[in-house]
Parts: sequence; structure tokens; C-alpha cells
Amino acid sequence: LKAPLNIGELPAQKVRRSKRRPYVFNLMVAGDSGLGKSTFINTLFNAPLRENPGAKHLASVQTVDIQPTTYELFEENVTLHLTVVDTPGFGDTLNRDADFNPIAQYIDAQYDKYLKAERSDEKRGNILDSRIHALLYFLPPTGNGLRDLDIEFLSRFCTKVNIIPVIGKGDGLSPEESAMYKKAILKDLARNDIRTYPTHHAEDRDHLAKFEKFIPFSVVGSDDYIVKNGVKVRARVYRWGAVEVENEQHCDFVHLREMLIRTNMQDLIDTTHLVHYSLYRSGKMGGESS
Ligand code: GDP
Ligand code: MG
Repeated sequence: LKAPLNIGELPAQKVRRSKRRPYVFNLMVAGDSGLGKSTFINTLFNAPLRENPGAKHLASVQTVDIQPTTYELFEENVTLHLTVVDTPGFGDTLNRDADFNPIAQYIDAQYDKYLKAERSDEKRGNILDSRIHALLYFLPPTGNGLRDLDIEFLSRFCTKVNIIPVIGKGDGLSPEESAMYKKAILKDLARNDIRTYPTHHAEDRDHLAKFEKFIPFSVVGSDDYIVKNGVKVRARVYRWGAVEVENEQHCDFVHLREMLIRTNMQDLIDTTHLVHYSLYRSGKMGGESS
């Protein structure tokens, strides 16, 4: 298998650790059900992900609804300890008022766990980080800007975690529709003071310009392949042709993957600690002293 992830390049990101220390990265996906979240995750880590049974209980508080799955990926002396947290799609409940509380509780529980460990002399040196470093929020390919539900979710969570907005099932929009939709979304994000990653957070300004222009990333996921010039590529096949996941003319998948895995993983981890966790911690401290 040709290395699809280039996680071997991870140490090139602001190296501050020994090469042997594994990267710990925790990714959450949220949005309506049926937008291709699970398919996208499989596509992103373009390898049959193997669960790491020993690492399963890294996260604190597991609900039936929110299931973290942990994997170990290896490449060129680098280990990536990856946890993907899938959340129930908002359409899964008949209740029209989507319940965001379990998601908030999950995120807070990991911050609490980290805070406790920080305060404990024995654990401080070796904290297992289960905090969410990036939340991919899936928007439907409607073309109509943000819905109230999206605004409500994004407003609530954008000060808690790094939110990366994506358009799911991007093949449902023509390039023109996609461009207009992105504009409408950006306008709604700004109007509602919603902070997203990397636009409002990235410490690493050099990479910002490169990725900012793709926000919200339009993505396509697929479990199927076609053969193109003798090479197997992931694609969705239609009567009129194929949409290739890794073709940047077709969607922004490669740019999102590059940002998440190849260039900004350490920045997402740092931002989580320095911005979101700090805010959470100071909120806790304030609460304790009053
Ligand atoms: P989830 O509920 O958000 O996790 O969505 P799934 O990944 O389970 O996908 C729901 C359905 O949409 C499945 O039938 C997928 O094959 C299909 N699907 C997934 N990704 C895409 C995509 O990028 N484009 C299109 N057209 N369909 C997709
Ligand atoms: Mg799913």
C-alpha cells in the first residue's frame, strides 16, 4: 500500500517532541444524518482502520450515542494515535429540536479529565489527551446559506472547539452553485460572529492563506474506486461520469486532508490547548472561587 497519509511528515510540523512519541489527535464529526460523515472518515484515512482495543477507553464518559473509536496508524517511525468521535445525526431524532447536549457533555468531560490530570502530581507528566482537536461540521449541499439549526450549533460550539465547516456530498452542487453557496455561508458565519478554524484561530498564519480560500471545504466521500490511467482512485460513479474524491477540480477533499493531517495537526492541537481549553479552565476557576 502506497503511504496515503504522509503521517511520516508529521514531525515536520513544529517539532517539539521526540520522534517516538505518538501523535494523539481527536477528531469529531457532527451534522445531519445522511450527509456522508461516516463515509468521509473512511475516505480520509484511506486505509482499513484497525481499532486499537487497548486505547478504547481513553475518553471519559461514553454514551450510547457518542462513540469514540481509536486507531493506531504507523508510518516511517511515526505513530498517530487517532480517535474519531462520531455523533448522532440531527435528523436521527423525531424531535425537531436537535439535542446538542450530549455533544457538549462529551467535549466538556474530556476537558474536565484533562484538568483533573493537570492538578494531579502523579499524572501531570503524562496526560492522555482525549480533548477534541477538531470538529468537522457537515452542512447539507442545499445552496441556501446557514439554517437556524446550523447557526445554533456553530454559535454554541465555536468557542469550545476548533470548528471546520464542510459541505457534505459536495457532488450535489455544480461548481457555480458551490461557489455561491460558499459565499452565502461565509456571509452567515460572519454575520453571526461564528469563529471557525483556520480563519479565526490558526497560530500558524503561513498556512492560513493557503487554506482559508477553501472554507467551507466541499467534500465528497466514497467507498468505491475507478481505474484512471491504470491507477485505482476513489470516486462516485454516475451515468454522466465520475466524481473523483482526490481531484481538486471536483471537490476540496485533498485540501482539507492536507490541512488536517499534513500541515496543521500540531496547530489544531496547540490551538485546542491555548485557546479553547484555556477558556474552559478559566471558566471553571471563576466558578470555583465565587
Ligand atoms: P452519515 O449519516 O452522515 O454518516 O452518512 P453516511 O456516510 O452513512 O452516508 C449516507 C449515504 O450517503 C450513503 O448511502 C453514502 O453512500 C452516501 N454518501 C456518502 N458520501 C457521499 C458523497 O460525498 N456524495 C454522495 N452523493 N453521496 C454520499
Ligand atoms: Mg454516520
